[in-house]
Amino acid sequence: MALFFLRVALFELFRLHLPLLMTDFSSLGIDPKLLEAIDALGFQSPTDVQQKAIPVLLEKETDIVALAQTGTGKTAAFGLPMLQKIDTSSRTTQALVIAPTRELCIQISKELIKYASAIKGLNIVPIYGGASINDQAKAVKKGAQVLVATPGRMQDMMRRKYINISSIALCILDEADEMLNMGFKEDITNILSHTPNDKQTWLFSATMPKEVARIAKEFMYNPIEITVGTKNAASTNINHEYYLVSGRERYNLLKRLSDTQPDIYSIVFCRTKRDTQRVAEKLIEDGYSAGALHGDLSQNQRDMVMKAFRAKQIKTLVATDVAARGLDVDNISHVIHYQLPDEIETYTHRSGRTGRASSLGTSMIILTRGELGKIKKLERIINAKITAQEVPDVNAILTRQLQYFAKKIKTTDVSDEIDGYLAEVNTILGDFSKEDLIKKLMSVEFNRLHSYYQKQSNALSKATPEGQGRSKKAADARYNINIGSRDDYDWKALKSFLVDFLSFQKDDIYHVDVMDNNAYFNTSMDKKDHVLAAFEGFKLDGRVIQIRTTEKRGQHLQGGGGYAKKRNKKGNRFSNRKKGGRSFGDFKKGKRKNRR
Ligand code: ADP
Ligand code: MG
Repeated sequence: MALFFLRVALFELFRLHLPLLMTDFSSLGIDPKLLEAIDALGFQSPTDVQQKAIPVLLEKETDIVALAQTGTGKTAAFGLPMLQKIDTSSRTTQALVIAPTRELCIQISKELIKYASAIKGLNIVPIYGGASINDQAKAVKKGAQVLVATPGRMQDMMRRKYINISSIALCILDEADEMLNMGFKEDITNILSHTPNDKQTWLFSATMPKEVARIAKEFMYNPIEITVGTKNAASTNINHEYYLVSGRERYNLLKRLSDTQPDIYSIVFCRTKRDTQRVAEKLIEDGYSAGALHGDLSQNQRDMVMKAFRAKQIKTLVATDVAARGLDVDNISHVIHYQLPDEIETYTHRSGRTGRASSLGTSMIILTRGELGKIKKLERIINAKITAQEVPDVNAILTRQLQYFAKKIKTTDVSDEIDGYLAEVNTILGDFSKEDLIKKLMSVEFNRLHSYYQKQSNALSKATPEGQGRSKKAADARYNINIGSRDDYDWKALKSFLVDFLSFQKDDIYHVDVMDNNAYFNTSMDKKDHVLAAFEGFKLDGRVIQIRTTEKRGQHLQGGGGYAKKRNKKGNRFSNRKKGGRSFGDFKKGKRKNRR
């Protein structure tokens, strides 16, 4: 009897789950030619957004807004139905995909070309800046039914009449939120104004900020809305962690995080182009295989970095948010937030670079005490816990490194070819016992790391002076520091730098006055030692940052400039320092352009 019920129960279970398990691409109404390509790519079943979007887009002539986090397969979700709708007997341009960056544009067209590999006479042409416009024009002229374009180059081509989109049936806005973030609203409006009114518009986005909703309202007709997962939810394959240090220890922590993961393959996100470049340069100097990706690099440089990163010749890609947006690189093991982004939503995009497909990933936040409050907010948005982690100590790092090295030795293939070379080696090493030989071998790796880490204290400082907040009664300390408006600093920017650097709360720094060559600020007296100690030996781009306590507020107006003379003696004049020394300005809020 019991057995019977069990069988019924099992049967019911199967009956209920079977349709779900069986969902495959063919049941979505996809053309056999496309199915062939999907099969060749090894896609086994459609992702959520593909399951929801593809049938609708194939069956209906409709506008659509589809929201799904990064890495969920949005390209195929619009790409497959789009390609299926192309009339290959005609050579006119029928569909236009607009994407924010050159890298994405190339990535999307490559992906689409793969999907269309079994369809004869279907031409997909990428249109992006930094490459020959004539070559692109030629490719279009041959008959491109599908264009994948960045807004800038697209408009350029339109102005020169290389492109005609007056009869397209379909326009797709990919990564719409990012395009608006980057200030492409006008460009998009302009491009769309050259398209027919009766076309369909498909908008794909990871998030739905107000601007995207506005675009949808303005340019779309009764769009169907598809949302996958909770809006802005982060992938569940990702472990979120944060590490608390003082602002000046960010870089040291980054190195420790990398050192504890000898096989790390990571993207490190910085807030500005300048920090991105600087962190990458330092890593390279310190012997890491790192590269920078940001908007100030030439297209050629960007291509080279991306190629090296994909080939894993570069293990750590240091990038700005915009440059790395939407890039699809497999098997990223770690995303490291060198600094948290200004907009918290960006966090989801960043973390989405790891934990793709079904692999596990880790998102690590380097955090200062002043930013602790952001963790709760983030947890709410990503709907996941962010756990506090101890900064890895030297022991842990050395242990991991040696384990890794030992495993590498263990798994190294031994070829017969080496036999001929071993006689000589044996005369040198043959007398060692097994134990001694292991010790020696391990020391090759150990000595290097050990001597490096000996110079560092075991714990990185996350110290904040006792007594948080400003006490009204305690006397103030006033400081003079050789950072000024020449360095692109206003009081707000300097304050936010100081709060970060010193791991203070906002209220701990006040009366910030920025002069030309230097600046003044106050803290309570009990923080004085901490402030002075924190800046001890601190250099920025090789320039020594000097700080001293000074008289109360107001007296500084006649002061200032004293450092220039002092430094002049050393032949290292403040105003003569190299261009790279222009410092800190990047910390300023609202410098959007700087982020690209
Ligand atoms: P998104 O645009 O949502 O960030 P992509 O379209 O770039 O995501 O897809 C991410 C990765 O997943 C790509 O490498 C793509 O080839 C792969 N992919 C897409 N759909 C599937 C699927 N159904 N099964 C397996 N892999 C897929
Ligand atoms: Mg995408």
